Amino acid sequence: MESSILSIKNLHKRYGKIHAVNNVSLEIQKGNVYGILGPNGSGKSTTLGIVLNVVNKTSGEYNWFGGSMETHEALKKVGAIIERPNFYPYMTARENLELVCKIKNIDYSKVNEKLDVVGLIDRKDSKFKTFSLGMKQRLAIASALLNDPEILILDEPTNGLDPQGIHQIRDIIRLIASQGTTILLASHLLDEVEKVCSHVLVLRFGQVLYCGTVDGMTNQNGFFELQAESNAQLMLILKNHPEVDQVFEREGKVIAHFRNKFDAWLLNRYLAEKGIYLNHLVFKKMSLEEQFLELTNK
Ligand code: ADP
Ligand code: MG
Repeated sequence: MESSILSIKNLHKRYGKIHAVNNVSLEIQKGNVYGILGPNGSGKSTTLGIVLNVVNKTSGEYNWFGGSMETHEALKKVGAIIERPNFYPYMTARENLELVCKIKNIDYSKVNEKLDVVGLIDRKDSKFKTFSLGMKQRLAIASALLNDPEILILDEPTNGLDPQGIHQIRDIIRLIASQGTTILLASHLLDEVEKVCSHVLVLRFGQVLYCGTVDGMTNQNGFFELQAESNAQLMLILKNHPEVDQVFEREGKVIAHFRNKFDAWLLNRYLAEKGIYLNHLVFKKMSLEEQFLELTNK
């Protein structure tokens, strides 16, 4: 059975003239990994800040866990890292986490368990100040996991890390997700979202460009690459087809984008009926990167 972790409906946030979040809606179901993807300044952090109760919304609604509890109660079941991790530099990883346990009234046995999840068990007695940025970020994840939250929220979890650090964080996110924790992460990196998320919300200027599965984003759009004896004639006929969105010529091939999914055999038959016999017909799917660029450039 699906159960609702977070439901966001028609959320808006204005900072004076800036419409930072413009009518964002998102349903987060238990067990999935969600990405909010968009270039810098597209409203990702603002959206996370609102649902975490650190930024005031202008209008719209959101509710946690089906609306069954007050936001401040619900947030006790949420683990979030939205700022650079900050711990006591002269205390060890273990001491820092024990302090968090003490404040939040969590059993100390969770410290080793979570240090293990983030691969820091061997470094538990090292002082925080000796940690690399990647290790600090992993300790922050361990800290956010101490109370076994229903959902883990991460804002740009790999920002500033070296390739190895990035790889480790992504592996940890996948591990946590495989153990059943729902995840919501914000990122401006397409490949990050592609690698770890099952669902994605694409934002630009605060507006939703796409919301759905990562697979759906790659599958829905594609284009035909065509060639005929007369490409000019072919283009003329395509331009008059009601389902065709865009036609142009590229490197001797005619590229045709349709508004909706369109079968190759239907197109072939249609053109033949118009007296055009193709010597090249290929349906090409756009890569997620091409999709993203097209979405964000429009
Ligand atoms: P992202 O996290 O996607 O980079 P943000 O949510 O941080 O984007 O910012 C969205 C927009 O809102 C940007 O134009 C940013 O400059 C603006 N913004 C964010 N926070 C504030 C603030 N406290 N005051 C004024 N403008 C803000
Ligand atoms: Mg941000």
